[in-house]
Amino acid sequence: MNNPLNKFKRISIIGAARSGVAAAKLLKKKGFEVFLSDASLPGKIDPEFVKEIETCNIGHEFGSHSSRVYDADIIVVSPGVPQNSEVITTALGKGLEVISEVEAASWFCKGKVIAITGTNGKTTTTTLIGEIFKDAGYKTFVCGNIGTAFSDIVEDTDENSIIVLETSSFQLDNIKEFKPFIAICLNITPDHLDRYDSFEKYLESKMKITDNQNSSDYFVFNYDDELVRKSVSYGINAKQSAFSLYPSVKDKTESGAFVDNFDLIYYYYMGEENIIDTQNLIIKGQHNVYNAMASVISARIFGIEKEYIRKTLENFKGVEHRLEFVRDINGIKFYNDSKATNVNSVWYALKGFNEPLVLILGGKDKGNDYSQIENEVKEHVKHIIAIGESKEKVYNYFKDILPVTMAENMNDAVNTAASAAAKNEVVLLSPACASFDMFDNYEHRGREFKKIVNSL
Ligand code: ADP
Repeated sequence: MNNPLNKFKRISIIGAARSGVAAAKLLKKKGFEVFLSDASLPGKIDPEFVKEIETCNIGHEFGSHSSRVYDADIIVVSPGVPQNSEVITTALGKGLEVISEVEAASWFCKGKVIAITGTNGKTTTTTLIGEIFKDAGYKTFVCGNIGTAFSDIVEDTDENSIIVLETSSFQLDNIKEFKPFIAICLNITPDHLDRYDSFEKYLESKMKITDNQNSSDYFVFNYDDELVRKSVSYGINAKQSAFSLYPSVKDKTESGAFVDNFDLIYYYYMGEENIIDTQNLIIKGQHNVYNAMASVISARIFGIEKEYIRKTLENFKGVEHRLEFVRDINGIKFYNDSKATNVNSVWYALKGFNEPLVLILGGKDKGNDYSQIENEVKEHVKHIIAIGESKEKVYNYFKDILPVTMAENMNDAVNTAASAAAKNEVVLLSPACASFDMFDNYEHRGREFKKIVNSL
């Protein structure tokens, strides 16, 4: 966008969480008249954010959205605020333009953006791509859904910067001109259906990542994911680069990656390059091979030498709470996969193990359909420990298939799981559910699990 200040003067921001506050600070600094509104009561807002809002002298209100919100040229919405919330529908009803924090931040971004979306694997892939570019000497910013907001770093970018941006579908819902140089779509499976009217809407919001791309940009996508593949067939302006576990993909797009007999191969118009033996990846499971392929393609688009890429891949240990190895106690291995908040990521987790598993499953259910993992549970799991609000649902679904024990809390779950497991078996926390019934968030759940395991 040329100069947004010529277009808008007064901006209202909805949601005083990390991205909303970061956007407010950025836009205020850039000279807009900013007003921040959050319906949560003041006590419910992170005191650190409140302090920042006050220090930066940002006009604000907490506890409800007043009519002042609509007294603006444009509304910026934080990703935590659902698309169908009253404040958004009212703003739209009044004819106001509503954009996401990513869109607003992108007005000021000078570098090249690599944006990553998908139901699962975003954080892992974002982190890995960030590592590859950092190791290769690029001025790299890793941000988005992952900790630092895009708005927080955008002012430090220059023409040579690489911005690796984890984008959730909530961020993509309200983009207008945001145009990544590389857009990656890892997979699309039902999740967050509680926030979308239909699966089609969810699919649409994920594919928005490529809407503004043109033929000098790249769309990197999972060819093995039927929904992604179908969406691509509707037409995309960017150059396409596909990844797949099967070599046949190389007939489908001009460049991409596949696996041939354990080797991860990058292909392009000049030929093929063997990047790494996937058995040398520390990160476990087939899903991580997909994440690695998406990362390799991004790096090769920038011409990063394969030796550099390989070195980073071979050293990458993954991200906390994602199939994280915790401890080995008398031959029983404990893994923390607390970030597995949907059935699909549990599917991949189960596939990642050859050992018999004791699986800790349950929490706040988001409409899970356990038939999607029934076969994998039969094949890999010997005992389920059901936890949280949905423990009865888990119990009732699986009780006729294998032993299921309901646990009172995480301590009970870990101890019961440890006694149910034998030498050369694995205890896996991969709950398929959100954590808010028992914990502040999935990190809290994962840390509790690790603390208990480490005290055994
Ligand atoms: P996101 O940021 O999209 O939630 P993460 O990298 O945090 O993704 O991983 C979330 C969960 O999904 C973890 O349990 C992880 O093991 C699993 N996972 C990681 N990559 C993939 C993938 N490509 N496909 C399916 N599941 C994955």
